[in-house]
Formats: sequence, C-alpha cells, structure tokens
Amino acid sequence: MTAQTDLNTYDLVVGGETVAADSGGYFETVDPATEEPLAKVARARKPDIERAVSAATDAHEKWSSTAPQERGRLLSDLAERIRANQERLALLETRDNGKPLSHARSDVETCARYFEYYAGVADKLHGDSIPLTDDYVDYTVREPLGVTAQIIPWNLPTNIFGRSVAPALATGNTAVVKPAEQTPLTAVEIGKLAAEVGLPEGVLNVVPGFGEEAGAPLAEHPGVDGVSFTGSVPTGIEVGTAAVENLTNVHLELGGKSPNVVWPDADIDSAVDSTMRGIFANAGQVCSAGSRLVVHEDVRAAFLDTLTDRIGAMTVDAGETDPDMGPLVSETQLETVTEYIEIGRTEAGDPLVGGDTLDRDGYFVEPTVFDGVENSMRIAQEEIFGPVLSVIEFGTEAEALEIANNVEYGLVAGIHTRDMGRAHRFARDVQAGQVYINEWFAGGEETPFGGFKKSGFGREKGLAAVDAYTQVKNVCANISPTRERG
Ligand code: ADP
Ligand code: MG
Repeated sequence: MTAQTDLNTYDLVVGGETVAADSGGYFETVDPATEEPLAKVARARKPDIERAVSAATDAHEKWSSTAPQERGRLLSDLAERIRANQERLALLETRDNGKPLSHARSDVETCARYFEYYAGVADKLHGDSIPLTDDYVDYTVREPLGVTAQIIPWNLPTNIFGRSVAPALATGNTAVVKPAEQTPLTAVEIGKLAAEVGLPEGVLNVVPGFGEEAGAPLAEHPGVDGVSFTGSVPTGIEVGTAAVENLTNVHLELGGKSPNVVWPDADIDSAVDSTMRGIFANAGQVCSAGSRLVVHEDVRAAFLDTLTDRIGAMTVDAGETDPDMGPLVSETQLETVTEYIEIGRTEAGDPLVGGDTLDRDGYFVEPTVFDGVENSMRIAQEEIFGPVLSVIEFGTEAEALEIANNVEYGLVAGIHTRDMGRAHRFARDVQAGQVYINEWFAGGEETPFGGFKKSGFGREKGLAAVDAYTQVKNVCANISPTRERG
C-alpha cells in the first residue's frame, strides 16, 4: 500500500506557473489496475477558474498578435518536447487511465502530431477575396475567438488534450483546460512542458478538478469566448446550455452507438480485426467504438466463430504489462458496464463470450459479446462505454441501413464489403459524421471528426477545427470615392 505522503503532487498550471489551488485542496487519483491511490492533484474550484481565465485573458492580446510563424514554431517545439517525453507520459497515462502501454504511447504520439499538424496551420490561415463590382475590394480575415475552454474526458486524456488545445492555440486563442478528475496527470505535465519550451505565460492553463466544481464555473464563465467539450450527452447539454447563456461559441463531441456492418463478401479476417479494434480498444471506452456489429445472416455464424476464437486468445491485464485490454477507468465505470451486462442478460440471454468481472483487484471486465440482439434493445440503443459488443443480424441492404440509422446517435459508422457501390451507397445514406470502409478508427489528425444527431455538433481535427476556433470577419471597401472623375 502506498502511503499517502509518498504520492507525487500535481498542481495547477496557471499563468506559466505551477500553483496550489486557492483553497489548498487536493484530491487523489486511483490506479484502476490496483485500486491504489496514484497521485495527489490540486482541486480547482471557482476562484482557480477565475484566476486561470484572467491569466488567459491577459495573455490573449500578445499571443494573437504574435507572428503566426512564431506561434507555429512554439507549437512545433511543444510537439517535439512531448515526443521527447513519450515514455514518461505514456506510463503516467497508463497508470492514471488503465489503458495498455502501447496504446498510451500511441496517444502521446497523436498528441504530439496534433501540435505539429496545427503548428503548420498557424501561418496558413488565409482569408478569401470576394469579387463584387469594380468599385469594391472585399476580403475575409479569420480572427481567434479569444479565451477558449477545453473540457476533456477521461478516456483519451492526452490524445484529446492535443486535439482540442493545438488548434485553439495555433489560431491565436489562449486556453484553459479542465482535464477529467479521473485522469488529470498528463494534462498537468504537458502544461509544464509548454512553459519549458517558452510558450508565453497564460497562453495555456491547466486546472484539474471535478465537473461541478471546476468544469461548470469554466463553462459558464462570461470571460470565456469558446468552449470545446468532449464527454457524455447529459453533461454536454449542461455545458452547451451554460455557454449559450453567454452566447459563447461551443462545440460538443458526445457519445455514439456506432454500427459496424459486415457483408458476406468482406475479407472476414480483416472485418474481425476491425470489429475487435472497434469494441475492445481502450476497453470499449471510446465515443467512436463500434458497439453494434450488424452482420449479414449468411456470414454471421462463421464470423462469430472466428471472433470467439480471437477473443479467447486476448490478454486482459494491467496496462503496464501491455495486454490486449486493460481495466476500465474507475469503479463507477465498472458498475455501469456490469449493470449493462445484466440488462443484456435479461434482454438477449447469456453472452456468447465473457460477461464477468475478473477475480482480482482492479476494475477488470471480460471482453463480452451478446448475440441475438434486437436493435430496439437497450444494449443496442444506449452507449455502454465498455467492452460489450451487441450482435444484430440483417438480411437486406435496406435492413442494414435501417438498423444502422435507427439510434439517437450518429458519430461514426463502418461497412465491410468488396462491393464498392454498396459501400458508397451506405456512406451516402448513413447518418454519421465519419464512415469507415473496410476499416475501423480510420483517419488521423487530418480528418474532420464530429457527430450527427445526439452525437453533438461542430467538428474537431483537420482543417475543420480551424472553423471551430476562429470567427470570420468580412471587410468591404468602397474604392470609388477618391477616383479621378472626368
Ligand atoms: P462521465 O460522466 O463519464 O464522468 P462526463 O461527460 O460527465 O463523463 O465528463 C466529461 C468531462 O466533463 C470531465 O472533465 C468532467 O469533469 C466534466 N464535467 C462533468 N460535469 C460537468 C459540468 N456540469 N460542467 C462542466 N464540466 C463537467
Ligand atoms: Mg459525470
């Protein structure tokens, strides 16, 4: 048992300095593989949010008028610094979140890539020149929003930090980041790295704390000009409502119940790979998880045989041993997932695979598959955010589409087939912000990402995030008044 006094301390990063919370309060994060306390983290509350927003406000004028190439250079330096700390950050992320070490390494690399990608965008924020008549010159300029808030979830803390913060800073905004209370450690560390590479003080502030105590005062702060939220639907609605009260720009990336459609002509090994990656990566705690396998009746049995064999060979263990799957992030999440497994037993009978927690310390649950699921069941409609796959059978193309679209969410969707006409008809008709053909989790930092329907609005990643973090100003000049006449 780790004595509390031995725990490393993680403070707030405000105005380029690490500081304790105004109240002096701390909270502990827990290692989900051992249930032991992992670190002591400063507990931000309203006065700390005030302080961080004020630091970000003070920094904004200088940062937004810093030469774009210089802003880009600093973000590139930060990308390099994150890469140089990859192993340390990955281990921290694994202990904080539970995910396999190789996944944490890849998340750290992704975070570095976001800073690198948007560093390259900083000096390419071109406007348009709009032809009117000969009497006018008309052009647009992209201006930053000002102070932006990033409220980050616990499933991909480092990855989403980069995804939300890098485009904000590249476009000339300053940032106040509220990491999730379950997984705040890498955000604090990256905040410190930013100070080391010389990012001006106050440009990037990190305020760990709880949703109600730190997230809510940040979302509703009138000094915040843009809010980026990734998380659950109910919290997204609260955050969005608070932002709109101030007429603050907001984008919300929420949940999903994404369909993965498999046709008999698909490459089955590759489709099984995609299916497993889609639902077991990060123990299913991914908004774009492929949680509904929509499989054609002619291939269902063969597909499930292969899937079952492959799941039987999976390792489930502490993230530090780099297994195929680690524990869930928290006791609360374990309770949610086991409740859904009970609901699944009632609705669809015993699972084909898995269904139990592991008999050891830590928040471990088996990879679980329910066969014979009807799309109307709760395990087909509600986001479980765990390694639980619902298998739904279909016969015709119309049925596949009907099943795919008949949920409240619309984040991503996948199809496995060799028939490209069918694949692109599906891509055209499916209600989702991203479509994978013969893949799952395709695309990188460059590809726009966000939801249809209850999966939210606004787009992150790629050049689409530039729109989310800038406001367009149109300048219209009448150039005729001083013209020589005669
Ligand atoms: P979960 O319920 O799984 O914890 P949430 O969507 O509630 O997921 O959390 C995502 C992020 O939103 C976290 O950083 C959390 O602290 C924050 N959060 C939670 N509640 C609020 C709130 N009322 N206002 C602002 N942020 C919140
Ligand atoms: Mg919550």
